[in-house]
Amino acid sequence: MNELQAIIAIINTCKAIAIVTHVGPEGDTIGSALACYHAFQEWGKEAAVYNPDPLPPELLFLPGANKIRRSQVLPPGWELCMVLDCSDRGRTGSLLEGLPPQVPLINIDHHKSNGRFGAHNWVDETASSTGEMVFRLFKAMARPISRETATCLYAAIITDTGSFRYTNTSPECLRVAAELLELGVVPDQVAEELFEKRDLREIQLLSEALSRLEVSPDGTIAWLTLDKPLLERVGIGLEETEGFINYPRSIRGVRVALAFKELAAGSYKVSLRSKGEVDVSRVAAAFSGGGHRNAAGCILEGDLGEVKGRVLAEIRRVMDGG
Ligand code: 5GP
Repeated sequence: MNELQAIIAIINTCKAIAIVTHVGPEGDTIGSALACYHAFQEWGKEAAVYNPDPLPPELLFLPGANKIRRSQVLPPGWELCMVLDCSDRGRTGSLLEGLPPQVPLINIDHHKSNGRFGAHNWVDETASSTGEMVFRLFKAMARPISRETATCLYAAIITDTGSFRYTNTSPECLRVAAELLELGVVPDQVAEELFEKRDLREIQLLSEALSRLEVSPDGTIAWLTLDKPLLERVGIGLEETEGFINYPRSIRGVRVALAFKELAAGSYKVSLRSKGEVDVSRVAAAFSGGGHRNAAGCILEGDLGEVKGRVLAEIRRVMDGG
């Protein structure tokens, strides 16, 4: 029996399934999880989605988003735990600390760096997104897919492929997207909800952040800094800044874009994006983070100047083939 079949067998036998998503939630983890939530409920099971952090406002339109349980530790009472889009246990924050050892953990993910931390691990780094994998899971189970479920999966896929622009856009994910449209997804509505309903304060913050954009002397690395004073002055949270990194990334000649985001005094989340062959997951891994070749992240402690210096030096090392 392969991992997918083992996962199907266990889902079929369990009646109460907790679905766990990653810290700093975004469209793939949440879309995949809500798709499972709808599907399991439609199949007569009890299910709930857990996340430790607030949801970015653009995801609140997803059917079931208001049912997501914000919790630091998973409460008891579940027969099975399914973890989606998490490359390691740490990505779930402390949620899994509440998981009794006898409860099986299913790990479904598309990160190359996945640590296979589950009792069952289905990891496919060739998948565009975890959403694409969940679609394949439902197909393999020969279950009907409702319009709600399809909408969540479509949102997951377009988030992770940058609306079918990134290198992970494959014939397979486009075929899945086509099937999701046949199931009733309205693509322009999903795109409008995800990308065209910004809060004015977010645009004001973007404008300030872009006015401080920095670029390396050779024009190949560009970065934004979002520090606490700036965020507090504009009055919005980091969860609303997800797409900002696409601006430095879009500059001609830039190979690597970064965003330094201050989580707390002396603690910075670093988001990394690259174009082409530069593997930013190697940069993130040097600081105990992870991700994909063209999109990765990590957290560093230290003062801002020092954090920038360390990350930029590592990027140079990777760019120079080190
Ligand atoms: P983002 O910059 O949008 O938060 O994340 C980009 C990619 O890097 C995603 O695939 C995400 O899962 C991964 N990633 C971001 N931060 C971390 C981290 O701290 N640890 C690990 N392992 N992966 C991360």
